[in-house]
Parts: sequence; C-alpha cells; structure tokens
Amino acid sequence: MAEIRLENISKVFGENLVVDDVSLTIQDGAFAVLVGPSGCGKSTILRMLAGLEQQTSGNVWIGDKMVNDIPPSKRDIAMVFQNYALYPTMTVKGNIEFGLMNRKVPKKERQRIVEEIAAIVGLTDHLNKKPDKLSGGQRQRVALARAMVKKPKVFIFDEPLSNLDAKLRTQMRTELIELHKKLGTTFVYVTHDQVEAMSMGDEIIILNQGVVQQKDTPSNVYGNPRNTFAAEFIGQPP
Ligand code: ADP
Ligand code: MG
Repeated sequence: MAEIRLENISKVFGENLVVDDVSLTIQDGAFAVLVGPSGCGKSTILRMLAGLEQQTSGNVWIGDKMVNDIPPSKRDIAMVFQNYALYPTMTVKGNIEFGLMNRKVPKKERQRIVEEIAAIVGLTDHLNKKPDKLSGGQRQRVALARAMVKKPKVFIFDEPLSNLDAKLRTQMRTELIELHKKLGTTFVYVTHDQVEAMSMGDEIIILNQGVVQQKDTPSNVYGNPRNTFAAEFIGQPP
C-alpha cells in the first residue's frame, strides 16, 4: 500500500506562505501530476513528501504510516530530478550498481538486477559507456534506472524532461507512461507544462499560489474546470 496523503500541509519561508493548507490523497498506483505556474509551490510539496523539507504544519502519510519524523532515506520514495547527477567517472553499469553495492547486495545478484533494469529502460547496449558518451535521453534513463534500483513504492519526478529537446521530451513522456504501467507503483510527477500534465497523468492536481485549485481526471479538468484559474490554465474558456 503506497497511498499518499497530505493532510493540511503548509510551508512558510520567512514571511512567505508558499504552500497553504494543502490536503490531497493520491491513490496507490496512480500517475498523479502536480501542475501549475513557476513558483506556485510544486517543488516544495514534492520535497516535503520526500522529507527533504520539513513542513511548517500538517502531516504526510505514506501508506498507513505517518512519516513526518522519518528521514528521506527511509520513506520508500525515489526521486528523479531535472539535473540528474550521474557519477561522471563511472560507467552506466557502475552508476546503476552503486546503490546496490552500498546495500551490500552480492555481485551475482547485482549483475542480475542491473541487467533487468537496463532492459526495462533500454540501456542494455550502453552499460559500459561513461555518461559523457550518452545523449540527454540516455542520461535521463540512467537516472531513472538508478532510482529503480531501490524498488521504491513511490517515484517522484520534478520536471525531469525540461532540459530535453521537444522531440525527445515527447518520446520520454511515452516511455515514462509505459514504465509506470510496467512497475505499477505510484508516480508523482511535477511539471509546469499543461500539455505534458494532461497527456501523462491519470490524476491532475492544479496548483496556484500554494493552493490546490482542482484535483481530477484529465477529462474532468478539461470538461469541468472548477474555477477560472483551472479553466484558463488548462486552456479551456470557463
Ligand atoms: P515551483 O516548483 O512551483 O516553481 P517552488 O516550490 O520551488 O515552486 O517555490 C515556491 C515559492 O517558494 C517560490 O516563491 C520560491 O521562491 C520559494 N522558495 C522555495 N524554496 C525556498 C527556500 N529554500 N527559501 C526561501 N524561499 C523558497
Ligand atoms: Mg520547481
């Protein structure tokens, strides 16, 4: 069970209330997309979910566990960022394997897991390359593979495709949708791009100025925007 629940979450930076009493439930296995304009609090919400930022008030639940006091490494969440930091001196295989070595997984088992994950993300033919020999899309796949090694219940993505060119971005959207189907885990995906949100998510959460405007299926967001902001942001007149 990896249902995610944010319960009356607020975050204040200095004098700014950047997340304002957000309550949300994300179903186990959903592909939830948090979308809204730049600066509206998306990354802050993800960081609180991951435990990288402490909320000013409210509770975060993952499954049936309240995780307020649980550090990021113990939250069963893996993160994929836009600036994926790969180890430049290690091969693709080394990058993927690194987390397994830390956990003292035996060599044979490591080999098996690396091959399995490489096949899923399409890196089988690139395992012996260093990151500087890879394209942007391939590097993004290594970052994904590294996150998958943990076998987390929840993946969170913070604008992971925004550094890629338009064609690759479209291709990676499709790949991520496929990956979500294959893994069956919960994805929480942040973007400021409405088209990306609507084409990827099965739950769309529209955020503005730290407040949830609407949480709904893509077709309901499109067909029944709940307020003017939601309507204009998604591009449908109210
Ligand atoms: P988004 O990801 O939607 O672009 P963020 O969550 O990054 O928005 O930021 C929301 C607001 O919080 C912005 O006004 C940003 O400047 C502010 N903010 C984010 N992180 C910090 C921080 N560590 N200290 C102060 N202000 C911050
Ligand atoms: Mg952000």
